[in-house]
Amino acid sequence: MPTSTYPDVMDKLVSLCKRRGYIFQSSEIYGGAGSVWDYGPLGVELKKNLKDRWWHAMVRAREDIEGLDAAILMHPRVWEASGHVAGFVDPLVDCRTCKGRFRADKLEDARCPQKPSKHPGEAEQCQLTEARQFNLMFKTFMGPVEETAATVYLRPETAQGIYVNFLNVQQSTRQKVPFGIAQIGKAFRNEITPGNFIFRTREFEQMEMQFFVEPGTDMEWFEYWKAERMAWHQRLGLAPERLEYHQHTAGELAHYARAAFDIQFDFGGTLGFQEIEGVHNRGDFDLTQHQQYSGKKLEYYNQVENRRYVPYVVETSVGADRVTLAALVNGYREESVPGEEEGRVVLGLHPSIAPVKAAVFALTKKEGMPEMARKLATELRADFPVDYDETGSIGKRYRRQDEVGTPFCITVDGDSVADGTVTVRDRDTLKQDRIAATAVRAYLADRLNG
Ligand code: ATP
Repeated sequence: MPTSTYPDVMDKLVSLCKRRGYIFQSSEIYGGAGSVWDYGPLGVELKKNLKDRWWHAMVRAREDIEGLDAAILMHPRVWEASGHVAGFVDPLVDCRTCKGRFRADKLEDARCPQKPSKHPGEAEQCQLTEARQFNLMFKTFMGPVEETAATVYLRPETAQGIYVNFLNVQQSTRQKVPFGIAQIGKAFRNEITPGNFIFRTREFEQMEMQFFVEPGTDMEWFEYWKAERMAWHQRLGLAPERLEYHQHTAGELAHYARAAFDIQFDFGGTLGFQEIEGVHNRGDFDLTQHQQYSGKKLEYYNQVENRRYVPYVVETSVGADRVTLAALVNGYREESVPGEEEGRVVLGLHPSIAPVKAAVFALTKKEGMPEMARKLATELRADFPVDYDETGSIGKRYRRQDEVGTPFCITVDGDSVADGTVTVRDRDTLKQDRIAATAVRAYLADRLNG
């Protein structure tokens, strides 16, 4: 079982996320739905900021990648061609004693519900069944008749929507190989053992990019994307020492892959290093399969050389929820505060993904302070998500903002009304700058970029 040098902060995060409005259990008032989570007011902003950063880096800031938003429901033949109907299975074992269900290939990651110090199958009373294959795709019916012929699937990955649109996008945008198609969207997997909060859920969001290249150049592009994607995670503020590559061995490689690397993040505790993104060299597997099953050519025509070929694909596939969790785990810290008995909890999120960029406080509810603070908050809101607070002690207000990861707190005090200056406190250094209220916008813009 992997063990990390970083502490296990998962239980504390689950409670912080509920208390502060980041993440709630789905259908909580009904006892909760199995491993499905809802993003609250702060969570939806955090995840959106993350997705925006990805979209910007992968689509907007590049000439060679186009965006797409394909539907979740697709023609059922897509999943035959992709190999998911036959092969998207996990081996499932049941325990006749405790009625627990486990992935046969991940027993070492699970605990016996009756004897948590042991893995399933290790305790004396365990009675595991033979493994049977379980398909992870959710099925539903298209149209009013519930019959086999009407079966459709909730997509288990977004990639197939890109492959089937390869020529639509290429021809409408006149892109030349090498180029990529990117999309962000929901995916569904009926996981046997979901868990660890939003790490493994049955409904999640993926940010995927398929890069179409000329055969023979694929390994070069594979190395390029491996490095690019690692750099993206670092720019997000994930600590470099908590990130590493994991190369898939021949035995681990998926049926479609010529080469594969995971980018792993150290989640702390017994979870340790786990995959947050996969970078795969898929060769021409997908386009060739779709040609065969659809009977339609999916070839690229190189006009200059008057030559047609099926491109190879290098894929980058990252979970928006999993990176959200990584950012939360990476940012969570407990600190003592000099001169104070009570310590503070800080969510050290990178300012670019923090849900609230600044909080504006009136020191007291007197002498024109609330009016000036409210006015400042309203002005700043045109450019940044800003919180306004005038209740409770200033210390408590700071703690609250630290705990949700707000990078800056701006206080309007008695002097502010007289001389037009305010204090800006930095979440991480606790340093306070006194600046003109009219300069706050530029001060924040300077520090929030990146
Ligand atoms: P795992 O082995 O962890 O189940 P995988 O290898 O099946 O993941 P991919 O199919 O490569 O994952 O999916 C790409 C990314 O999608 C993963 O790196 C992860 O970030 C995300 N992802 C996959 N399954 C889930 C899930 N059940 N819940 C949340 N995110 C997921």
